[in-house]
Amino acid sequence: MKENIMGVDVTTLNEQQLINNIEEDIKQSRKVRIVAINPEKIMMAEKDTNLRELLNESTYQIPDGIGVSIASKLSGGKIRGRVTGIGMMGNLLALANKNEWKIFMYGAKPEIVQQAARTIQERFPKLIVSGTLDGYVQDTQEIITTINKAEPQILFVALGSPKQEFFIKNNMEQLNVNVFQGVGGSFDVYSGHVKLAPELFQKTGTEWLYRLIKQPSRIKRQIALPMFLAKVVSKRNR
Ligand code: UDP
Repeated sequence: MKENIMGVDVTTLNEQQLINNIEEDIKQSRKVRIVAINPEKIMMAEKDTNLRELLNESTYQIPDGIGVSIASKLSGGKIRGRVTGIGMMGNLLALANKNEWKIFMYGAKPEIVQQAARTIQERFPKLIVSGTLDGYVQDTQEIITTINKAEPQILFVALGSPKQEFFIKNNMEQLNVNVFQGVGGSFDVYSGHVKLAPELFQKTGTEWLYRLIKQPSRIKRQIALPMFLAKVVSKRNR
């Protein structure tokens, strides 16, 4: 059920299979961790053993980013399409809504996490947002106590990568939560603070160009993809 791409495991389960598995995990009171894998993280993990271990010991490594599925195809694997972190969060919210489960949202700026929580509660009226905490609170023990008091089945952590993954790894034992997902900038999107590219860019498939103009420092991230794919191909041909 997993494929190894340059040292990092990635699940071959599709979105529906993942959700079915996770529903069962929660019903059986298991603790599971979801981590989004993209080329950037695979490249980082090549140099950082701690990060590689942390990714590989997670329960579900989802192929976030088209680069991962291209890499799978190039190396004879069977991952097709992508399961994005934000898409997975949406599916978990729908699952929580169906079962009237509790979620907890930890991370991002105070007004962002609160606005995101309101939007989510409106869109998914049957789930319970059992609590929110912004990502700039310092006292870890206080964070753990607050989350445990709220008794959520699902915890979303939005601290950016790999900070959120390390928070989950270091504290999951003390947290009485079933599903842990690091969701990066997803609260910013749910709060409406991060806008999509204008239609012209969307229609012509040049959203990357729009993002590059808005934030020129992204060039480093964008160059990483062709470099990563070249590496995958060179490993295959060795
Ligand atoms: N963030 C936070 N605490 C921190 C650092 C970051 O809550 O100490 C939040 C930040 O406000 C943002 C989120 O982490 O809402 C994701 O940041 P970014 O988009 O940089 O992460 P990425 O998804 O690119 O890893």
